[in-house]
Amino acid sequence: MKRLAGLLAAVALLVGCAVDPVTGRSQLMLMSEGQEIALGEQNDQASLAQFGVYDDPELAAWVDEIGQAMAARAQRPHLPWTFRVLDDSIVNAFAGGGGFVYLTRGILAWANSEAEIVGILGHEIGHVTARHIPERYTSTALAQVGLTAGMIISPELRAVGGELQQGIGLLLLKFSRDNESESDHLGVGYAVGAGYDARALADFFTTLDRLAGSAQQRLPEWASTHPAPAGRATNVVQAAEPLVAGRDLTVGREAHLRRIDGMVFGVNPREGVMEGATFVHPDLLFQIDFPQEWAVQNSKTVVLAAPDDGSAVVALLAGRREAESLRAHVGAVLEGRGAINIRGEQTTVNGSPGFWVAYNIEDGATRLAIRETFVEYGDLVYDLIGYTVDDYGRFAASFEDYQTSFRPLSGNRADQYQPDRLRIERAPRTATFEALVSDTPAANIDQLALLNGVERTSTVEVGELIKTVEAGYPRR
Ligand SMILES: [Zn+2]
Repeated sequence: MKRLAGLLAAVALLVGCAVDPVTGRSQLMLMSEGQEIALGEQNDQASLAQFGVYDDPELAAWVDEIGQAMAARAQRPHLPWTFRVLDDSIVNAFAGGGGFVYLTRGILAWANSEAEIVGILGHEIGHVTARHIPERYTSTALAQVGLTAGMIISPELRAVGGELQQGIGLLLLKFSRDNESESDHLGVGYAVGAGYDARALADFFTTLDRLAGSAQQRLPEWASTHPAPAGRATNVVQAAEPLVAGRDLTVGREAHLRRIDGMVFGVNPREGVMEGATFVHPDLLFQIDFPQEWAVQNSKTVVLAAPDDGSAVVALLAGRREAESLRAHVGAVLEGRGAINIRGEQTTVNGSPGFWVAYNIEDGATRLAIRETFVEYGDLVYDLIGYTVDDYGRFAASFEDYQTSFRPLSGNRADQYQPDRLRIERAPRTATFEALVSDTPAANIDQLALLNGVERTSTVEVGELIKTVEAGYPRR
């Protein structure tokens, strides 16, 4: 199952013409600092809606504390620096405009020390202080921002299969190699200033390289949005050497591992999981069948599916009822969309009160044909949408089958769905890594070795901490 990975990540951004105080380079800035901050805040809200914050206050507090300490000594200390841990398994870190910096739980899981995390934060802080974000921001990216709010009823999404993917690509702001090298150098300085061994960032690059080369289902986004200049790890170590020489700097391997003990690892099935073509949501206690063979994308705010040719879309949304009755709620929604040729009636969907409607929306020369069912279940109204531009007759049955398949999930069954979790254990004896973890069921040994930043045949000393993965359900 793909998610709308990083749809908003890096949308932030900003841009007057100024000689940057950090880099000394002249940059074309289309936006003032105030605009940069405003957009950063706006995109922060969107990022929170898209990913949510990972629920671990202690972990969040540590990330914020070390981030603030580095930002306070950096070149733009007056920005409203904000450091967040997002609830996403993708291995990613990114900077929004105006001082917003994000780590995912995925990157925290794959890092092996505090110093690696500090190096990653330093690098992202560098993108902000060097004003790379305004510099790279383009009108193309700006045009894509509308995708999130109006995406469901937007005729531009008629070819959702291809265009949506492309949109995501455009949104993941790509920095130049010079930007990356500059941020690496700035980040090394910030990390050492905070008392950490900046050479550790090179270790994380090694993990990224191995991840990218393995059969992982989810590629490390930080690698794909951060083009790696040849010898990047070596350059980091070279930049760090003169700064670290003769200093007593922290690596913090054990402290980091202790902090991530018990952390959710990988995709969290509590937020919805595909079983075949059925989407099961254990926390909201429902299930629904998507059309067979359609590609499904699950994000925290919407689940979308489309056939390969992108000629139709079905979507699942949920929200509060905003009127005194379901009928009034539906009326308000249709009026807001400018619906015409409306027909439909009250219905019951597997025991829940519902209301189905079919209608058109016209936008210039484009006529959208929509079948939509609203279902009241729990304390939410589920909005099940199917729409196409050209071919309603071809998709009407698929839309109806999808919408009428919405049904409850029993609490007993829902309880079975649990995420995998990281467990930190002490090696009971000195042995090779593969010998120590050979009876761990959840992950294969190669993946575990990668997760620990070691080889299968590396020697682990008695008492050393290692990461293992406790299997949840369903097994992935
Ligand atoms: Zn970067």
